[in-house]
Amino acid sequence: MLKEIVKKGDPILTKKCHKVTKFDKKLNNLLDDMVETLKDSGGVGLAAPQIGICRRVVVVINGEDQVIELVNPEIVETSGEQTGLEGCLSLPGEYGEVTRPMVVKVKAQNRTGEWFEVEDEGLTARCFCHELDHLDGHMFDELCDRLYTNEELDAMAEEAEGEEE
Ligand code: ZN
Repeated sequence: MLKEIVKKGDPILTKKCHKVTKFDKKLNNLLDDMVETLKDSGGVGLAAPQIGICRRVVVVINGEDQVIELVNPEIVETSGEQTGLEGCLSLPGEYGEVTRPMVVKVKAQNRTGEWFEVEDEGLTARCFCHELDHLDGHMFDELCDRLYTNEELDAMAEEAEGEEE
């Protein structure tokens, strides 16, 4: 079922989420709802608190358009560094520069409770960090000096283009 995405200002986005202990029908339904809601949103990652559920569950769409379901995820290894613009479905229309590791390895359980590891880089690595932060009540804007709107970004892009000519 398509769920409404909670926006910044809702207290659930500042809470530390609970570990999943039951790998039951309820968890399956939650994951199905999250995947449906993420695909509908056009985003690349969604954390359970963003649909009002205080559980350690994340879904991410990787560079190959595959859905990765992460239950009780933990970052186990990182390397390198990347700085780039980040946005959030809970803070629509605002973007900020965030520095994250370039490569991130995550350990998590799947919907039946089996542990697995997944490693990715670039945008998907950034997404792992961003979504896992949500599970501890943190949002990307805490890591930014300032936020930009779409209009500001467009103006900056035009300016940059002008300089190249
Ligand atoms: Zn977010």
